[in-house]
Amino acid sequence: MTRGQIANVDLVKQVNSSAVYRLIDSQGPISRVKIAELSNLAPASVTKITRTLLEHGLIREMEHQASTGGRRAISLTTVTRDFHLVSVKLGREELRLSLYDLDGQVLARDTLAFPRQQQDALLADLAGQIQRFVRRHGAGLRLIALAVVMPGLTDALRGQVIYHPSYPLAGVPLADRLRQATGLPVFIGNDIRALALAEHYFGASRDCLDSVLVSVHHGVGAGIITEGRIFKSLGRDVAEIGHIRVDPLGDRCHCGNFGCLETMVADAALLRQAEKMLAQGYQSLLDPQALTMAELCRAALAGDRLARNVLERAAEHLGQALAIMVNLFNPQKVLLTGALCDAERIVFPLIGKAIEYQSLPSFHQGLPIVRAHFQDDQTIGGLALVKRALLEGELLQLIIEPKV
Ligand SMILES: [Zn+2]
Repeated sequence: MTRGQIANVDLVKQVNSSAVYRLIDSQGPISRVKIAELSNLAPASVTKITRTLLEHGLIREMEHQASTGGRRAISLTTVTRDFHLVSVKLGREELRLSLYDLDGQVLARDTLAFPRQQQDALLADLAGQIQRFVRRHGAGLRLIALAVVMPGLTDALRGQVIYHPSYPLAGVPLADRLRQATGLPVFIGNDIRALALAEHYFGASRDCLDSVLVSVHHGVGAGIITEGRIFKSLGRDVAEIGHIRVDPLGDRCHCGNFGCLETMVADAALLRQAEKMLAQGYQSLLDPQALTMAELCRAALAGDRLARNVLERAAEHLGQALAIMVNLFNPQKVLLTGALCDAERIVFPLIGKAIEYQSLPSFHQGLPIVRAHFQDDQTIGGLALVKRALLEGELLQLIIEPKV
């Protein structure tokens, strides 16, 4: 047998095992007969695959009364509580670490300052922090993976960082480096794209296959889910909605262009606009010394004209960019996350209106615009990357047949 044939046999095994695991995950408790029927696999193959999954504790049997009465039937369901992972958000000079089980329960969290430093020192420090966290919280648990999510751009397929806004990591094979340091399979990805997937698996877009998530914080980012998958997240980044030009005469963006959406609706931009209007003498409840997004939203909801104005303009611009996404991807749901969601009552209807005026009627009719479920969990995207690797077979295969 040639090397190519061996690889193909492995691939077929991986594809079949993951197809069975996916069915049990999405439809369990489910019988072996039903799995065979839905997967088009021979019953003998299903028996063999489920035996392997059972041996590794990935699924378990449940006995119950068959719907037809008579003898008791056996169904299969996935085991999620026994498997754990560490998810790291490599943020802007900040590191967040969380320990989850596969069910999404959080067992431990840690947040620490993580200053800029030289590449080698940075990588050693990062590995050291992760190892300490694992030692402190992961003892006795079955850890199956490490995930790292970050702002900027990543090549998830190669496990490489393309660009990070705070650290000199361009071109670094981060997944390989951390795998060597921890001995765990490592999955990396952009934080917003991973968050969109987390919303699809566990959150607000669980009920649909196509959705768009937009996040407004330091910058403006988006994640597109099409047919239950992140649209293009493995090699090439997409959905850089923050750099859609909204105002040709606008401020200079860090990308080099002028008037990008990000320069107009990111948190800092909104606070700058409010500050400027206060300095010009507009009447307002806002205290210029204590200007935050929370205060801006609170004042707007209390009827403050200035605060309302700033948020309304932001909503219109966001809506304009979102309408482009709606025209391109026809999502079943639009999710928003960010500080301006505090003023949901003001912001969301205006975004809806802008989408309504600027996209195809059949695309926007009845289109829900909702708050993302995971507003405050910055590491949840990592859990989604691990779950994806399990469902799509790559990680499942490593658990079933660990590479020595
Ligand atoms: Zn830009």
